[in-house]
Amino acid sequence: MTDTPTQLFIGGAWLDAADGATMPVDDPATGEILCHIADAGPKDARLAEEAAVQAQEEWARTAPRARSEILRRAYEIILDRTDELAHLMTAEMGKPLGEARGEVAYAAEFFRWFSEEAVRIDGGAGVLPDGRNRMLLSRRPVGPCLLITPWNFPLAMGTRKIGPAIAAGCTMVLKPAPQTPLSSLALAAILQEAGLPDGVLNVVTTSRAGEICEPLLRGGRIRKLSFTGSTAVGQLLLAQSAQAVVRTSMELGGNAPFIVFEDADLDKAVDGAMVAKMRNMGEACTAANRFFVHHSVAEEFGRRLAERMGVLVVGPGTRDGVDVGPLIDRTGRGKVEALVADAVERGARVLVGGRTPEGPGCFYPPTVLTDVSPESRLMDTEIFGPVAAILTFDDEDEVIRRANDTPWGLVGYVFTEGLDRALRVSERLEVGMVGLNTGLVSNPAAPFGGVKQSGLGREGGRVGIDEFLEYQYLAMPVR
Ligand code: NAP
Repeated sequence: MTDTPTQLFIGGAWLDAADGATMPVDDPATGEILCHIADAGPKDARLAEEAAVQAQEEWARTAPRARSEILRRAYEIILDRTDELAHLMTAEMGKPLGEARGEVAYAAEFFRWFSEEAVRIDGGAGVLPDGRNRMLLSRRPVGPCLLITPWNFPLAMGTRKIGPAIAAGCTMVLKPAPQTPLSSLALAAILQEAGLPDGVLNVVTTSRAGEICEPLLRGGRIRKLSFTGSTAVGQLLLAQSAQAVVRTSMELGGNAPFIVFEDADLDKAVDGAMVAKMRNMGEACTAANRFFVHHSVAEEFGRRLAERMGVLVVGPGTRDGVDVGPLIDRTGRGKVEALVADAVERGARVLVGGRTPEGPGCFYPPTVLTDVSPESRLMDTEIFGPVAAILTFDDEDEVIRRANDTPWGLVGYVFTEGLDRALRVSERLEVGMVGLNTGLVSNPAAPFGGVKQSGLGREGGRVGIDEFLEYQYLAMPVR
């Protein structure tokens, strides 16, 4: 903790907030304050924007190979410091150290992936169909970007945006979530060490997000917003982006269905459920939110899932052998408690968990609910906690209709041994991603994103860099 930066990173310098404001960062496992960091105000945000704007032209002209090598060096430094970064992440966010190490590797991989994409930005040339005109097509960075990230994956949500922005030649202002700013500040220091020029990345930590972001979005100098967070905040930022016609990428909330058919391999389904539900204590946009299980296997599935959930060890993420860390804060835990209470009131049976432990920290036990009423609030609310809610279904058409009956469409999970059914159901689900007999879809080489109110655009994969590039078409007569 002692070497972790706690100031704003602007124009390559570490600065206090102009008005001297600071804010605390808490440890969710104890409720204690870890440290205080700079709390940026509108003046600091304008300074960060100015640094990004000033650096843009020269950065756009940098050789793609040079940008690629900065990312590659940063990838290697991150991996070398896995342990240090994992401890920092666990301290501010709560996830067990093993999961934090996994996230460090996942986060670093975005830099390796985009270091490879930086040198593959294509263009085109040709004669147009009329035979009289030529076309020259080039791709250029979209310009200075505002990147806003959530707290649940403190490092990976940053690298998933910073990687393609650097590869494309964009400069940026990053505003991380106030609960988990330390991972982003550590990342900025690593990128500086890897040779990123001053002003290309600027990091403003703040407790006044709305106050500092809205002027940037309306001001006309920021050309792109890449946001990951809740649908409600995404909608607000889309409206704010409309005025200056800012290009947007939106990775928003989910409400993932997890469908287990009668011909599923139940071992695979339970393994998949453990990952889809319990990765990150259930605090993931990809978390299975609604378990639809065929009535003929529902009891057996519920029994096995409860058995596996019931033996997970809950405790501080730094302690050996812990599987489930604390939730992010008291508000997050309060929401989970209220959703479970509502489901139980409407007739759900608690197979395991369901009771908040005494003592400090924001812990909540792995919980399985069955006989959940379709009217329960958790059917149309992201639970964001370690709670699996099981409902039953009778036939394929019915379960597809119910799975699609939500404004969200990020990911769906399908468990069946039948190939025809697997493809048919996957194609009919209104989601951007499908996990077929698996509970994990995230991979830097695959396009991540959703449909409907789960977002706009994709991150990662071959298309991830496109979000940060514009086409320019040049017309020329054939002579
Ligand atoms: P959130 O409340 O929407 O916040 C996300 C970020 O937006 C934070 O940095 C937050 O800072 C900032 N923010 C909030 N209001 C703002 C405003 N008016 N102007 C500018 N910035 C603003 O979401 P969260 O609770 O941190 O994260 C959980 C949500 O993220 C879930 O819905 C989850 O599904 C979603 N998520 C989606 C993906 C995906 O890829 N689709 C990945 C991870 C998470 P403040 O807290 O200071 O307001």
